Amino acid sequence: MWLKLPGLSRSEDRFETWIAQRHQEHVLAEREISAGPCPDESFLKSLATKSRRIQLSDPRVNHAANCHVCMTRLMELRRETHSRRRRLVLTVAVASCLLVAVVFVMLGRRRARTQNQMAEVAAIPQTVNLWNAGTFRGDQPSRLKTVLLPAALVKLTIILPRYSGAGRYDVAVTRDQAGQDILAHASSMAIGSGDREQVSVYLDLRKSRPGSYFLSTTHEQDQASYYYSLQIR
Ligand SMILES: [Zn+2]
Repeated sequence: MWLKLPGLSRSEDRFETWIAQRHQEHVLAEREISAGPCPDESFLKSLATKSRRIQLSDPRVNHAANCHVCMTRLMELRRETHSRRRRLVLTVAVASCLLVAVVFVMLGRRRARTQNQMAEVAAIPQTVNLWNAGTFRGDQPSRLKTVLLPAALVKLTIILPRYSGAGRYDVAVTRDQAGQDILAHASSMAIGSGDREQVSVYLDLRKSRPGSYFLSTTHEQDQASYYYSLQIR
């Protein structure tokens, strides 16, 4: 029968299955009838689902294994159990995929919300007025304005130098004047009031050590970077 014996290897298992199939075919083909009445439906169901409650010594097992009526019903019950299990597995798999997707979406939203909250709550507002600042372009030094910023999450508002154009600006903190070794950078659209343009960005300087750095602004169309001497406290 299908009741699986413990400790069988895979090849022994296959052999067992083969024997069981031959036996089933024989019982069905010969339309064998066992002695005694056929066991009830609930017993056959338990047998079909290999319930551990069934003892192999139970005479009803021997009957069912050798009766073509019981065998036919057992095979139907096995098929029903199999398709029910397949549906259950499929349902669980689909539900798991949906759950994973929902968790990912929720985590993504929470992370975005946390980042926004962190930016809003923890950022230290700093304003840097570069309206009259001397800048240098690339490696052309000139009179520099030194900007002071804390080693913190900073909401930096830069009042851009006179004659600065509208548009998007990339703001970066770098270790050198060549714009290499970027510590933090962000970009934002400049907001104009009169002929004055200003740009606000969040810069995460929490991991930077106090010392000398450079603050650069790069206009998206111009692509030329202007550097200012920066001290992080
Ligand atoms: Zn029977």
